[in-house]
Amino acid sequence: MNYSLSTQKDLHLETIDIDGFERVIKVSCPKAGLTSIIAIHSRALGNVALGGTRIQPYPSFEQALEDVLRLSRAMTYKAAIAGVGFGGAKSVIIADPKTQKNEELLFAFAEAVQQLEGAYVCAEDVGSTLEDMATIAKKTPFVVGTPHAESSGNPSPFTAWGTFRGIQATLKARFGCDSVEGKTIAIQGLGSVGSVLADYLFWAGAKLILSDIDQKKVEILAKKYRARVVDTKEIWKTECDLLAPCALGGILHSQTIPQLRCKAIAGAANNQLLSDKDSILLRNRSILYAPDFVINAGGLINVAAELEINGYDPLLSRQKTHEIYDTLLTIYEIAEKKQQSTQEAALALASYRLRYGVGKRTAPLRFPCLTV
Ligand code: NAD
Repeated sequence: MNYSLSTQKDLHLETIDIDGFERVIKVSCPKAGLTSIIAIHSRALGNVALGGTRIQPYPSFEQALEDVLRLSRAMTYKAAIAGVGFGGAKSVIIADPKTQKNEELLFAFAEAVQQLEGAYVCAEDVGSTLEDMATIAKKTPFVVGTPHAESSGNPSPFTAWGTFRGIQATLKARFGCDSVEGKTIAIQGLGSVGSVLADYLFWAGAKLILSDIDQKKVEILAKKYRARVVDTKEIWKTECDLLAPCALGGILHSQTIPQLRCKAIAGAANNQLLSDKDSILLRNRSILYAPDFVINAGGLINVAAELEINGYDPLLSRQKTHEIYDTLLTIYEIAEKKQQSTQEAALALASYRLRYGVGKRTAPLRFPCLTV
């Protein structure tokens, strides 16, 4: 496909200076009803920064900015720890995905991505779909996870598998054995990741406690896995061996942590800690926490593989996702030795890799949308 620069006359890209971020751009296109922010946090480990496009009706521009900054920083750390050779970025479109998402809006956003000439590659995220990525791909090749012949497909099963492996590592560090057999595991959120994780855990012998705002979904899965159902207001404080947050961010903070009745936390949700320092509260309560940007990297590993020069290979993605187990055990060991929280240990490891260029990409990339 041939791509050209923007044809949108009223597309504006305006740089916002933010300390510690490589580039933050406010994108607006009044004609298309677009207000968006693209945040490139760091490209220290790869010329291309990868991160999803979140479509959400944020109450204010400031809240959208805060979210995109936090998410893009986490992408840098996630990519650094997973060793994929990409930088970290994220984008948000301030819109209701149910009522305001349309082709014109996505085209305008895509043209902004195209203007960045590959510094940023977008992907599916909360509020956006594979079909939306296909729409974006009509205007720019700098998008992954589109439904084409060379696509990596749905990232969620890889995220779920990485989370499962991370749960095994967390059980090993907390209980001395990595078997989930007979362990009581509470899952908050049974969406694309949580429902697949429930399946992996069921077959490995776990006793499941399930919760979701979608009552029908919970009932179906509770029957399937003979699980206990707990109300969404109670799930995070339910007594269990391990809590797996797979819905929302910001659930772990000074108000909720004292009420937790789990011994470990390992789930896929992004930004589970309201702030990094909340990890110290968890450590003080001997609750072992799997840093989210380490355990939920399976999806990133899989979409990143789509850009490898030899084309997408699910076996490579599986191998790298498998390694989340060892990475987490290393982080737990460092945290124990240094008497730090696991979040501090993971952040220190990511910062070390970024500072010294560990895992920096040397292999070239190939953008499948340019060839299919
Ligand atoms: P999803 O939207 O498919 O599922 C989220 C589920 O959580 C839905 O079933 C929703 O009904 C439920 N939910 C919402 N609020 C809830 C609440 N208060 N209590 C209980 N359940 C609630 O999302 P997903 O793709 O499964 O992702 C889940 C989390 O994992 C998100 O935080 C996402 O950012 C993160 N994550 C996902 C991937 C991926 O590959 N999909 C990768 C990395 C991180």
